[in-house]
Amino acid sequence: AVLLMIVVGLLTGLLCFYILSIGNRPGKEILTAIKRNQFYVVYQPVVSSSDMKIRGAEVLMRWKHPTAGEIPPDAFINFAEAQNLIVPLTQHLFELIARDAPALQKILPPGAKLGINIAPGHLHTPSFQNDMRALSAALPPNYFQVVLEITERDTLQQKEAMKIFEWLHHEGFEIAIDDFGTGHSALIYLERYAFDYLKIDRGFIKAIGTETVTSPVLDAVLTLAKRLDLVTVAEGVETQEQAEWLRAHGVNFLQGYWISRPITLDRFLAAGNEPAKY
Ligand code: C2E
Ligand code: CA
Ligand code: CA
Ligand code: CA
Repeated sequence: AVLLMIVVGLLTGLLCFYILSIGNRPGKEILTAIKRNQFYVVYQPVVSSSDMKIRGAEVLMRWKHPTAGEIPPDAFINFAEAQNLIVPLTQHLFELIARDAPALQKILPPGAKLGINIAPGHLHTPSFQNDMRALSAALPPNYFQVVLEITERDTLQQKEAMKIFEWLHHEGFEIAIDDFGTGHSALIYLERYAFDYLKIDRGFIKAIGTETVTSPVLDAVLTLAKRLDLVTVAEGVETQEQAEWLRAHGVNFLQGYWISRPITLDRFLAAGNEPAKY
């Protein structure tokens, strides 16, 4: 019992130290983690619904924290945004992607789409355009199609954002509206901004096959996407039934555990370009 108390005491102490160290040095944790190479990326394949062939991958960040273990991106991205560290973190992300790019060329076909999540706040920083140019310059020329995935969650600053979108297109980037259907802003964004892709949030996909009548909202989203000439990507596809339904309803690309979980570059290379093996 004494031993147990000592162990519990030590653990509590460690936990407090950890929490305090975050509290006292806001943000420093993330900068240190960048220096110590604690961030890494995983890739989740995206396939064409018509032939299930791989057409690209979404890049997802991971933090392997020495004491806290794997910290999910939902947690540290918000933290980084709050600490004004989303720019250095994204610059680091770009470096990681550029480092992997030559290997990715072995698995992904020419023109493959690389989906990269961009925090809306980053768009409006002075370094954004330079960061994007640096990414382009660091990637093999004319091979990948970079697609920036931007959520509608946060308010894009209107006029400025439109100009930035124009610039991005001019530089050869494409833009996806991410998590569509979950934000506060909704439809007005679609009319106003020149998105290329619409990523249907997995909340809508979940309903397929579980309800006798599929979501009328999902139907409306698909109609809308078609009217606005947006290429559609379904995320969170977990069953064959969902994949078949989406394909039958004209959704262009599929992403989700049914095709593959996000995987490390090594596993990706080992699997080759055969989705069945992921
Ligand atoms: P997201 O952009 O919507 O990314 C898709 C999330 O859904 C990923 O979670 C992915 O692992 C998960 N997912 C994919 N397929 C399935 C499925 O079939 N079923 C289920 N239940 N989940 C699936 P993850 O990797 O935890 O990322 C969470 C969020 O964190 C991302 O959501 C994105 O908003 C953000 N994020 C991740 N990496 C980055 C990054 O490098 N930069 C920024 N700014 N945000 C990032
Ligand atoms: Ca995304
Ligand atoms: Ca998403
Ligand atoms: Ca999501």
